[in-house]
Amino acid sequence: MPKCGSCGNEGIFDSKSVNPVRPLARSGLQALFSNGGTIANVEYCNAPWELVNAAWNQPEIHFDRCGQCGSSSILWP
Ligand SMILES: [Zn+2]
Repeated sequence: MPKCGSCGNEGIFDSKSVNPVRPLARSGLQALFSNGGTIANVEYCNAPWELVNAAWNQPEIHFDRCGQCGSSSILWP
């Protein structure tokens, strides 16, 4: 599973390229990973379905920011 090289987070990552709609949301596209390393859920707003689908299939390309500390240092297996 992916891991943040800064804080060690392994569960939640988001995309820098999708701007949030809600002021408090950090990203419009966010993935929750299960313990097995697969995507458990993708939450999105302001992201077209094609992008959500692509992110689901190739998460290492689209999820490029830690959902906890905001670091771009993501380590993929
Ligand atoms: Zn982090």
